[in-house]
Amino acid sequence: MEGRAIFVRQAALALGLALPLSLLVVVGVGVWKVRQVARAQSYVIHLALPDAGARLGLPPIEGPADSSRPLVVIDAGHGGHDPGASGANGTREKDVTLLLARAVRDALLREGRLRVALTRDADRFLVLDERADLARRLGADLFVSVHADAAGNDQAGGATVYTLSDRGSDALADALARRENRADGPVADVSASSAVSSILVDLSQREMRERSVAFADLVVREGQGRIAFHADPRRQAAFVVLKSLDLPSALVEAGYISNADDAARMVDPAWRARFGETIARAATIALARREAAP
Ligand SMILES: [Zn+2]
Repeated sequence: MEGRAIFVRQAALALGLALPLSLLVVVGVGVWKVRQVARAQSYVIHLALPDAGARLGLPPIEGPADSSRPLVVIDAGHGGHDPGASGANGTREKDVTLLLARAVRDALLREGRLRVALTRDADRFLVLDERADLARRLGADLFVSVHADAAGNDQAGGATVYTLSDRGSDALADALARRENRADGPVADVSASSAVSSILVDLSQREMRERSVAFADLVVREGQGRIAFHADPRRQAAFVVLKSLDLPSALVEAGYISNADDAARMVDPAWRARFGETIARAATIALARREAAP
Protein backbone atom coordinates (compact mmCIF):
# COMPACT_ATOMS: atom_id res chain seq x y z
CA MET A 1 0.00 0.00 0.00
CA GLU A 2 2.84 2.32 0.97
CA GLY A 3 4.75 1.60 -2.22
CA ARG A 4 1.70 2.16 -4.33
CA ALA A 5 0.97 5.52 -2.72
CA ILE A 6 4.52 6.67 -3.47
CA PHE A 7 4.13 5.52 -7.06
CA VAL A 8 0.85 7.40 -7.45
CA ARG A 9 2.40 10.56 -5.96
CA GLN A 10 5.40 10.26 -8.26
CA ALA A 11 3.18 9.64 -11.26
CA ALA A 12 1.05 12.68 -10.40
CA LEU A 13 4.19 14.78 -10.01
CA ALA A 14 5.55 13.55 -13.31
CA LEU A 15 2.25 14.25 -15.03
CA GLY A 16 2.08 17.70 -13.43
CA LEU A 17 5.49 18.49 -14.85
CA ALA A 18 5.03 16.79 -18.23
CA LEU A 19 1.77 18.51 -19.11
CA PRO A 20 2.95 22.11 -18.93
CA LEU A 21 6.23 21.04 -20.56
CA SER A 22 4.51 19.41 -23.53
CA LEU A 23 2.20 22.40 -23.77
CA LEU A 24 5.26 24.63 -23.95
CA VAL A 25 6.73 22.47 -26.71
CA VAL A 26 3.46 22.54 -28.67
CA VAL A 27 3.21 26.34 -28.38
CA GLY A 28 6.91 26.68 -29.25
CA VAL A 29 6.57 24.57 -32.39
CA GLY A 30 3.45 26.51 -33.33
CA VAL A 31 5.22 29.87 -33.07
CA TRP A 32 8.19 28.51 -35.04
CA LYS A 33 5.84 27.23 -37.78
CA VAL A 34 4.01 30.56 -38.02
CA ARG A 35 7.39 32.29 -38.32
CA GLN A 36 8.45 29.85 -41.05
CA VAL A 37 5.27 30.52 -43.00
CA ALA A 38 5.66 34.26 -42.54
CA ARG A 39 9.28 34.03 -43.66
CA ALA A 40 8.31 31.92 -46.65
CA GLN A 41 5.62 34.42 -47.59
CA SER A 42 7.89 37.45 -47.31
CA TYR A 43 10.50 35.53 -49.32
CA VAL A 44 8.05 34.97 -52.15
CA ILE A 45 6.94 38.60 -52.11
CA HIS A 46 10.55 39.74 -52.06
CA LEU A 47 11.37 37.69 -55.17
CA ALA A 48 8.19 38.48 -57.04
CA LEU A 49 8.76 42.24 -57.23
CA PRO A 50 12.09 42.40 -59.08
CA ASP A 51 11.09 39.38 -61.15
CA ALA A 52 7.94 41.03 -62.46
CA GLY A 53 9.73 44.29 -63.29
CA ALA A 54 12.92 42.76 -64.69
CA ARG A 55 11.83 42.27 -68.28
CA LEU A 56 8.99 44.03 -69.98
CA GLY A 57 6.96 42.24 -72.60
CA LEU A 58 7.81 43.47 -76.09
CA PRO A 59 5.34 45.92 -77.64
CA PRO A 60 3.72 44.95 -80.95
CA ILE A 61 5.45 45.82 -84.23
CA GLU A 62 3.09 47.37 -86.77
CA GLY A 63 3.36 48.03 -90.49
CA PRO A 64 4.60 45.80 -93.33
CA ALA A 65 4.82 42.11 -92.43
CA ASP A 66 8.22 41.90 -94.18
CA SER A 67 10.69 41.73 -91.27
CA SER A 68 13.55 42.99 -93.45
CA ARG A 69 11.91 46.43 -93.49
CA PRO A 70 13.66 48.87 -91.11
CA LEU A 71 12.01 49.33 -87.71
CA VAL A 72 11.44 52.72 -86.07
CA VAL A 73 10.80 52.76 -82.32
CA ILE A 74 8.89 55.82 -81.10
CA ASP A 75 9.24 56.60 -77.42
CA ALA A 76 6.58 58.75 -75.74
CA GLY A 77 8.47 60.53 -72.95
CA HIS A 78 7.46 60.19 -69.27
CA GLY A 79 4.22 58.40 -68.21
CA GLY A 80 2.60 56.86 -65.14
CA HIS A 81 3.75 58.55 -61.93
CA ASP A 82 6.13 60.78 -63.94
CA PRO A 83 4.01 63.51 -65.56
CA GLY A 84 7.00 65.36 -67.09
CA ALA A 85 6.64 69.11 -67.53
CA SER A 86 3.34 70.89 -66.87
CA GLY A 87 1.83 73.67 -68.92
CA ALA A 88 -0.84 76.26 -68.46
CA ASN A 89 -4.41 74.93 -68.21
CA GLY A 90 -3.14 71.68 -66.69
CA THR A 91 -1.53 70.18 -69.80
CA ARG A 92 0.81 67.37 -68.80
CA GLU A 93 3.81 66.44 -70.91
CA LYS A 94 3.18 62.67 -70.51
CA ASP A 95 -0.26 63.01 -72.18
CA VAL A 96 1.02 65.22 -75.01
CA THR A 97 3.96 62.90 -75.76
CA LEU A 98 1.66 59.87 -76.01
CA LEU A 99 -0.61 61.68 -78.48
CA LEU A 100 2.43 62.80 -80.51
CA ALA A 101 4.00 59.33 -80.53
CA ARG A 102 0.74 57.86 -81.80
CA ALA A 103 0.61 60.54 -84.53
CA VAL A 104 4.12 59.53 -85.66
CA ARG A 105 3.12 55.86 -85.67
CA ASP A 106 -0.02 56.59 -87.71
CA ALA A 107 1.98 58.65 -90.23
CA LEU A 108 4.52 55.83 -90.61
CA LEU A 109 1.70 53.33 -91.13
CA ARG A 110 0.14 55.59 -93.78
CA GLU A 111 3.49 55.88 -95.54
CA GLY A 112 3.69 52.09 -95.34
CA ARG A 113 7.40 51.58 -95.93
CA LEU A 114 8.78 51.18 -92.41
CA ARG A 115 7.80 49.03 -89.46
CA VAL A 116 7.00 50.84 -86.22
CA ALA A 117 6.64 50.12 -82.50
CA LEU A 118 5.89 52.33 -79.48
CA THR A 119 7.74 51.93 -76.18
CA ARG A 120 4.42 52.70 -74.48
CA ASP A 121 0.89 53.02 -75.86
CA ALA A 122 -0.72 53.79 -72.50
CA ASP A 123 -0.17 56.00 -69.46
CA ARG A 124 2.55 53.87 -67.87
CA PHE A 125 5.93 54.51 -66.31
CA LEU A 126 9.12 53.14 -67.86
CA VAL A 127 12.60 53.89 -66.56
CA LEU A 128 14.90 55.41 -69.16
CA ASP A 129 17.00 52.25 -69.59
CA GLU A 130 13.87 50.17 -70.21
CA ARG A 131 13.02 52.36 -73.20
CA ALA A 132 16.43 51.79 -74.79
CA ASP A 133 16.29 48.10 -73.84
CA LEU A 134 12.96 47.65 -75.64
CA ALA A 135 14.43 49.23 -78.80
CA ARG A 136 17.46 46.95 -78.62
CA ARG A 137 15.43 43.80 -78.09
CA LEU A 138 13.07 44.71 -80.93
CA GLY A 139 16.08 45.17 -83.23
CA ALA A 140 15.23 48.80 -83.99
CA ASP A 141 17.02 50.76 -86.72
CA LEU A 142 16.03 54.18 -85.42
CA PHE A 143 14.88 55.44 -82.01
CA VAL A 144 12.95 58.67 -81.60
CA SER A 145 12.04 59.92 -78.12
CA VAL A 146 9.23 62.48 -78.17
CA HIS A 147 8.96 65.19 -75.50
CA ALA A 148 7.49 68.64 -74.91
CA ASP A 149 9.61 71.32 -73.28
CA ALA A 150 8.72 73.93 -70.67
CA ALA A 151 10.42 77.22 -69.97
CA GLY A 152 10.02 79.95 -67.38
CA ASN A 153 9.90 82.39 -70.25
CA ASP A 154 6.49 81.84 -71.89
CA GLN A 155 7.79 83.36 -75.14
CA ALA A 156 10.02 80.33 -75.80
CA GLY A 157 8.38 78.22 -78.50
CA GLY A 158 8.79 75.82 -81.39
CA ALA A 159 10.24 72.36 -81.91
CA THR A 160 13.85 71.39 -81.21
CA VAL A 161 15.63 68.22 -82.34
CA TYR A 162 18.37 66.95 -80.03
CA THR A 163 21.08 64.42 -80.66
CA LEU A 164 23.30 62.83 -78.03
CA SER A 165 26.47 64.56 -76.98
CA ASP A 166 28.66 64.28 -73.91
CA ARG A 167 28.36 68.02 -73.53
CA GLY A 168 25.33 70.19 -74.25
CA SER A 169 25.51 72.65 -77.14
CA ASP A 170 24.62 75.40 -74.64
CA ALA A 171 23.58 75.94 -71.03
CA LEU A 172 19.88 75.65 -71.90
CA ALA A 173 20.43 72.30 -73.62
CA ASP A 174 22.32 71.06 -70.55
CA ALA A 175 19.52 72.22 -68.26
CA LEU A 176 16.95 70.49 -70.46
CA ALA A 177 18.89 67.20 -70.41
CA ARG A 178 19.07 67.42 -66.61
CA ARG A 179 15.31 67.85 -66.43
CA GLU A 180 14.59 64.99 -68.85
CA ASN A 181 17.09 62.70 -67.11
CA ARG A 182 15.34 63.29 -63.79
CA ALA A 183 12.58 60.86 -64.88
CA ASP A 184 14.51 58.10 -63.07
CA GLY A 185 15.12 60.22 -59.98
CA PRO A 186 17.84 62.70 -59.05
CA VAL A 187 20.71 60.21 -59.54
CA ALA A 188 20.27 59.84 -63.28
CA ASP A 189 22.17 63.01 -64.18
CA VAL A 190 24.88 62.17 -66.70
CA SER A 191 25.90 65.54 -68.07
CA ALA A 192 29.64 65.32 -68.66
CA SER A 193 29.63 61.67 -67.51
CA SER A 194 32.62 59.59 -68.57
CA ALA A 195 30.31 56.77 -69.73
CA VAL A 196 28.86 58.97 -72.44
CA SER A 197 32.27 60.28 -73.52
CA SER A 198 33.73 56.78 -73.78
CA ILE A 199 30.78 55.60 -75.87
CA LEU A 200 31.25 58.48 -78.25
CA VAL A 201 34.92 57.81 -79.02
CA ASP A 202 34.18 54.34 -80.31
CA LEU A 203 34.30 54.26 -84.12
CA SER A 204 31.00 52.47 -84.73
CA GLN A 205 29.43 54.82 -82.23
CA ARG A 206 30.80 57.71 -84.22
CA GLU A 207 29.07 56.37 -87.32
CA MET A 208 25.88 55.95 -85.32
CA ARG A 209 26.22 59.53 -84.16
CA GLU A 210 26.61 60.76 -87.75
CA ARG A 211 23.43 58.91 -88.73
CA SER A 212 21.64 60.41 -85.75
CA VAL A 213 22.73 63.90 -86.81
CA ALA A 214 21.66 63.19 -90.41
CA PHE A 215 18.22 62.09 -89.22
CA ALA A 216 17.85 65.11 -86.92
CA ASP A 217 18.80 67.47 -89.77
CA LEU A 218 16.20 65.76 -91.97
CA VAL A 219 13.51 66.36 -89.34
CA VAL A 220 14.23 70.09 -89.48
CA ARG A 221 14.33 70.04 -93.32
CA GLU A 222 11.10 68.03 -93.71
CA GLY A 223 9.33 70.05 -91.03
CA GLN A 224 9.74 73.39 -92.83
CA GLY A 225 6.28 74.71 -93.65
CA ARG A 226 4.68 71.89 -91.64
CA ILE A 227 5.50 72.63 -88.03
CA ALA A 228 7.06 75.59 -86.18
CA PHE A 229 10.66 75.27 -85.03
CA HIS A 230 12.62 76.98 -82.29
CA ALA A 231 14.99 79.69 -83.52
CA ASP A 232 17.88 77.29 -82.84
CA PRO A 233 16.27 73.92 -83.70
CA ARG A 234 19.30 71.58 -83.85
CA ARG A 235 21.09 71.04 -80.57
CA GLN A 236 22.97 68.44 -78.54
CA ALA A 237 22.84 67.31 -74.94
CA ALA A 238 23.61 64.33 -72.69
CA PHE A 239 20.33 62.41 -72.55
CA VAL A 240 20.24 59.20 -70.49
CA VAL A 241 17.53 57.71 -72.71
CA LEU A 242 19.84 57.93 -75.76
CA LYS A 243 23.20 57.14 -74.21
CA SER A 244 23.03 53.34 -74.04
CA LEU A 245 21.58 52.92 -77.53
CA ASP A 246 23.70 51.36 -80.26
CA LEU A 247 21.48 52.66 -83.03
CA PRO A 248 20.75 56.09 -84.54
CA SER A 249 18.54 58.16 -82.27
CA ALA A 250 17.17 61.61 -81.55
CA LEU A 251 15.08 63.31 -78.91
CA VAL A 252 12.45 65.67 -80.28
CA GLU A 253 10.96 68.42 -78.12
CA ALA A 254 7.83 69.01 -80.20
CA GLY A 255 7.22 72.41 -78.63
CA TYR A 256 6.85 74.20 -75.28
CA ILE A 257 3.80 73.33 -73.24
CA SER A 258 4.56 76.46 -71.22
CA ASN A 259 3.78 78.45 -74.37
CA ALA A 260 0.01 78.85 -74.92
CA ASP A 261 0.28 78.70 -78.73
CA ASP A 262 2.50 75.61 -78.71
CA ALA A 263 0.30 73.87 -76.13
CA ALA A 264 -2.79 74.51 -78.28
CA ARG A 265 -0.97 73.21 -81.39
CA MET A 266 0.21 70.01 -79.76
CA VAL A 267 -3.33 69.02 -78.73
CA ASP A 268 -4.69 69.86 -82.21
CA PRO A 269 -5.06 66.63 -84.23
CA ALA A 270 -4.28 68.42 -87.53
CA TRP A 271 -0.99 69.81 -86.17
CA ARG A 272 -0.11 66.45 -84.67
CA ALA A 273 -0.69 64.78 -88.04
CA ARG A 274 1.80 67.24 -89.61
CA PHE A 275 4.27 66.56 -86.80
CA GLY A 276 3.85 62.81 -87.39
CA GLU A 277 4.37 63.28 -91.14
CA THR A 278 7.55 65.27 -90.51
CA ILE A 279 9.13 62.54 -88.39
CA ALA A 280 7.86 59.78 -90.70
CA ARG A 281 9.33 61.44 -93.82
CA ALA A 282 12.66 62.12 -92.13
CA ALA A 283 12.83 58.50 -90.89
CA THR A 284 11.91 57.10 -94.30
CA ILE A 285 14.60 59.17 -96.07
CA ALA A 286 17.26 58.47 -93.42
CA LEU A 287 16.66 54.71 -93.48
CA ALA A 288 16.37 54.57 -97.31
CA ARG A 289 19.83 56.20 -97.46
CA ARG A 290 21.16 53.54 -95.14
CA GLU A 291 19.64 50.76 -97.28
CA ALA A 292 21.21 52.30 -100.38
CA ALA A 293 24.64 52.65 -98.73
CA PRO A 294 27.14 49.89 -99.71
ZN1 LIG B 1 10.32 65.37 -71.30
